[in-house]
Amino acid sequence: MPAEVVDAVVIGMGPGGEDLATRLLRAGLSVVGVDGRLVGGECPYYACVPTKAMVRAAGTLAEARRVGDLAGSAAVTPDWSIVAARVREEITDNWDDAAAVEKFEKAGGQFVRGWGRITAAGEVTVATADGERVFHANRAIVLNPGTAPQVPALPGLADTPYWTNREAVAVTEVPESLIVMGGGPVGVEFAQVFARFGAKVTVIASHLVPQNEPEAGELLAEVFEAEGIAVRGGHGTAVGHDGSEFTVELDSGDPVRARHLLIATGRRTDLTALGIGSLGLDENAHGIPVDDRLRAADKVWAIGDVVGHGAFTHMSMYHSRIAAADILGTSSETAQYHAVPHVTFTDPEIGGVGLTEAQARAQGLNVRTGFTKLQDSTRGWLHKAGNAGFIKLVEDADRGVLVGATSVGPDGGEVLAALTLAVHAEIPTATLRRMIYAYPTFHRAIEAALDALPAS
Ligand SMILES: Cc1cc2nc3c(=O)[nH]c(=O)nc-3n(C[C@H](O)[C@H](O)[C@H](O)COP(=O)(O)OP(=O)(O)OC[C@H]3O[C@@H](n4cnc5c(N)ncnc54)[C@H](O)[C@@H]3O)c2cc1C
Repeated sequence: MPAEVVDAVVIGMGPGGEDLATRLLRAGLSVVGVDGRLVGGECPYYACVPTKAMVRAAGTLAEARRVGDLAGSAAVTPDWSIVAARVREEITDNWDDAAAVEKFEKAGGQFVRGWGRITAAGEVTVATADGERVFHANRAIVLNPGTAPQVPALPGLADTPYWTNREAVAVTEVPESLIVMGGGPVGVEFAQVFARFGAKVTVIASHLVPQNEPEAGELLAEVFEAEGIAVRGGHGTAVGHDGSEFTVELDSGDPVRARHLLIATGRRTDLTALGIGSLGLDENAHGIPVDDRLRAADKVWAIGDVVGHGAFTHMSMYHSRIAAADILGTSSETAQYHAVPHVTFTDPEIGGVGLTEAQARAQGLNVRTGFTKLQDSTRGWLHKAGNAGFIKLVEDADRGVLVGATSVGPDGGEVLAALTLAVHAEIPTATLRRMIYAYPTFHRAIEAALDALPAS
């Protein structure tokens, strides 16, 4: 079959792929966008967007439940049908990407629904419902395959009706009881959402949010306990399902039982399916190695989750800008990862940027830390309003700059912006100490954390 010749083929139309394809179109290139699922990728249909709608709804319930402490009385009756309808109708368009496809095509792109793989240098073969199509890309092949849920090989699990994030965002009823396997951002966000809507939730995880400072996981565990969410340490060793109830055996004690089971134990990409072996790349690796312009091989770029610098939508978009500019030759910007921000949208929100204290010490830096609890430094008098949180700063004392920071609290993700700027721009800590921090904002706790940082 003769190859259709174009300038660029983008395999995987996640946030970065869609953005990059559009940038190339705007520059006048002919672009084919390929996706086996939905244009937009995981984020708008199964991940960031529907989960944040759920978080917002659950947070509203929690806020209403504080009325008794602060403002009088309010009767709160959770109704999941409102959340389910919003996710289905307003947010995911019933998991239909017609609008996104139309937008891409109106911009001049050619969309092909199917699974793409590299079959030779410059060549992509797409398996569609109507057979294979072959494209030759003159200027660029871009790989943006993202990640899929990683399901552990536990005895019994494969035969059960477990959920991953893809099923959990689509539920129409709150589970009566739920086991969440995994304490990372995906697991803890779903755990708190469903618990606030009335589910009896047990999280199985040795540590909560382990990619953050340990104080964040410890505080979240306290909050979970106060909200009735059980946290069981250890690992699941086997899973059973008797037709109505799951049983998860644990290496650390008694089994856990619940009506539903959510697997949130990480993400993976099937590199073999992408055909990167034909480029001489390791298909058994954890991700695709790239240089600082996201180049994976001659005329091949890889962006997003698969590159392994953080599985975040903002990372995929950041990569898109750099790779697109490199393809077009319009900029020589290179990717830098010293100030990657990330937010877990629990209540309290957990924001982090740069290195944790342990990571900084492992790099051999001369580390100093500053720590303050929000309730000790700002708005302590509003404690009942649910403002548990803290700021932790990690300084490279030799250079006098922050190399990492954590901001936990009601607006932890927003407060993180100031800290991200400080880490990104390597603003001297002495300069940060001389700033004026408005009272009584949550970000004012940054000043208290700076006060707690030993001076040179
Ligand atoms: C529950 C959950 C909540 C999250 N919340 C947040 C959040 O709040 N903030 C945040 O920044 N991040 C969040 N993330 C992470 C975020 O969803 C991803 O980092 C983001 O989607 C960026 O991924 P990507 O562009 O690399 O690819 P993806 O979004 O994963 O898209 C990749 C696309 O490639 C397609 N594809 C793969 N292989 C092929 C192939 N061979 N041929 C054709 N198509 C292919 C897939 O079908 C998919 O559509 C969350 C993730 C989960 C699971």
